[in-house]
Amino acid sequence: MDRRAFLQHASVPLGAAALDRWLPAGADAASPAPTPGPAVQATRRSSVVVVGGGAFGAWTALHLREQGHSVTLVDAYGPGNSRATSGDETRQLRIGYGDRELYARFAQRAMAAWRQREAEFGVPLLVQTGRLELAPDWTPGMRATAAMLPTLGATVEAMGHDDLRRRYPQLNPEGIGVGLLEPDACVVRAKQAIVTVAKTFVRKGGTLSVARVQPGRATGRRLDELVAGDGSRLSADAYVFACGPWLPRVFPELLGKRIAVPGRDVYYFGLPAGDDRLAHPNFPNFSESAYYGFPSVDGRGVKVCPTTGPASFDPDTDERIVSPHQVRRARAYLAMRFPSIKDQPITETRVCQLENTPDEHFIIDRHPDWDNVLIAGGGSGHAFKHGPVMGEYVARRALGEATDPAFDAMVRLAK
Ligand SMILES: Cc1cc2nc3c(=O)[nH]c(=O)nc-3n(C[C@H](O)[C@H](O)[C@H](O)COP(=O)(O)OP(=O)(O)OC[C@H]3O[C@@H](n4cnc5c(N)ncnc54)[C@H](O)[C@@H]3O)c2cc1C
Repeated sequence: MDRRAFLQHASVPLGAAALDRWLPAGADAASPAPTPGPAVQATRRSSVVVVGGGAFGAWTALHLREQGHSVTLVDAYGPGNSRATSGDETRQLRIGYGDRELYARFAQRAMAAWRQREAEFGVPLLVQTGRLELAPDWTPGMRATAAMLPTLGATVEAMGHDDLRRRYPQLNPEGIGVGLLEPDACVVRAKQAIVTVAKTFVRKGGTLSVARVQPGRATGRRLDELVAGDGSRLSADAYVFACGPWLPRVFPELLGKRIAVPGRDVYYFGLPAGDDRLAHPNFPNFSESAYYGFPSVDGRGVKVCPTTGPASFDPDTDERIVSPHQVRRARAYLAMRFPSIKDQPITETRVCQLENTPDEHFIIDRHPDWDNVLIAGGGSGHAFKHGPVMGEYVARRALGEATDPAFDAMVRLAK
């Protein structure tokens, strides 16, 4: 069955207008006028199917399309869906990465790319909140961040206990000796960003389709086709599998032991009436060993995420209901650190999952059996921010073009 037949048969091909239903009405009503983005190059060179429309897949599909390739993006539940790791409301963009310089450099390029894309899309995606890392004393990671950011031309500010008390009276600094502020860090409206990337991909001539697919027939070292749930097939020159937490399911032998999928709760605690001391722009993103979170953005309340949760989570079937035990722990933390919201109710919750590799490096590499298949994932809790730059990188890898050898080695499948 050819590509057109697949799209008619196996799936719901979506136009950009159809994607509007993934966002609340008027979500981008206050949008600034878009600026021109990269034009689609005129010559079509290869056909590529990208499986998975999350942070890795949606951006990869857009980059490939902008290079003039014939691209189909296939997602089982649609880009930015609420089961996807990228389908949560918000994610953080920061440059500070401890001593992991390659990621810091990628994140810095990504930060600039997000700004350009935000202008191109005409959709307000970024909120510059800053990020405050807190610890009893300097950790090796904080020292490395404080040393590295100035070398990259990025701003960082160190504070002691008394500085924190003076500057942030809404924070109880008990037990905190050091605060490291990265003022340029942002919150990105994640779900909205992914839907916008997918819409732009379609507007630029890409094909988007809702179907669950898996690898089908292969000839020698080439995969010939993908097979959808109803048996219909889709062929292309190259395939990118960017299936996030589903990667171990798509390639159980290869990735079953390399990618773990633990669950994570996300809570939004309401602010007291008339009190915006913990809302943007009055307080930054915050992070300490057991919790991190964001100030209230878009009126959602203070976002709080524990860094622990169930060791294993099924992204298809597990209920997205938070754990009462974790809620009690989070409330105790808030009562201590942010006393003004200790009695406030939870206003929203999310349950998400990670796709963790043992060394927390992404996995971006050829499938060992098929030369025309690239795997891209293993986000390990930090991939979203890299989307616009990572998409370009994955697109180049999928087409066998040159990339940074040091980064290639870091994200290899077998180490
Ligand atoms: C609680 C939490 C907080 C985080 N905070 C941050 C942060 O602040 N900053 C940051 O940079 N990162 C953060 N991350 C990490 C980041 O969200 C992820 O690394 C990133 O979103 C992963 O994207 P992905 O494309 O790999 O996966 P996903 O977003 O899950 O996308 C995979 C897609 O593949 C589709 N799919 C799967 N299997 C198939 C199939 N067989 N056929 C068709 N489609 C399929 C799914 O429907 C899904 O849409 C956080 C993660 C969590 C859980």
